Amino acid sequence: MKQIYLTKNPTQTKKVGIILAEKILGSYFHRKKAVIFGLKGDLGGGKTTFLQGFARGLKIKSKILSPTFVLMKRFEIPFPKKQQKYGDFYHIDCYRTNSSKEISDLGFQEIISEPKNIIAIEWAEKISEILPENTIWIKFIVIDKNTRKILFN
Ligand code: ADP
Ligand code: MG
Repeated sequence: MKQIYLTKNPTQTKKVGIILAEKILGSYFHRKKAVIFGLKGDLGGGKTTFLQGFARGLKIKSKILSPTFVLMKRFEIPFPKKQQKYGDFYHIDCYRTNSSKEISDLGFQEIISEPKNIIAIEWAEKISEILPENTIWIKFIVIDKNTRKILFN
């Protein structure tokens, strides 16, 4: 995965999400740990937009929204091979929380201990104390009205 993307519109940001999802699915049955993405950066930076593309790349049909009051939403991953047990995609948005405990109380440890799960957390820096070492950090920066910089660690 390239380290820095400069996108010129929401469609390009979604495309980066799709590419990432396809890459993750490519190693789906070889994983020993859940994949966790920590999304941070500016408000309006494109975190939710990116995850809409990411979910599409996972073949999830439901729309990913900015959860105003919902902290966590679970989606079944319909891909891949039918005979295998599927995991779930969890979309967590910490915009309205400041306490890691609120997320822990949702069964977070259990969720991240299932290797087939994929977890994406917006405003993840707020709960960094409960995120494992293997969290993949992605930063979103607003450059101007339609330009966003997306940085992978
Ligand atoms: P966040 O979840 O980081 O707060 P959102 O994805 O909800 O951000 O919102 C991003 C906003 O910026 C949307 O209104 C979108 O239309 C707009 N936008 C403009 N240019 C881009 C771009 N290149 N990538 C993503 N969003 C963009
Ligand atoms: Mg958002």
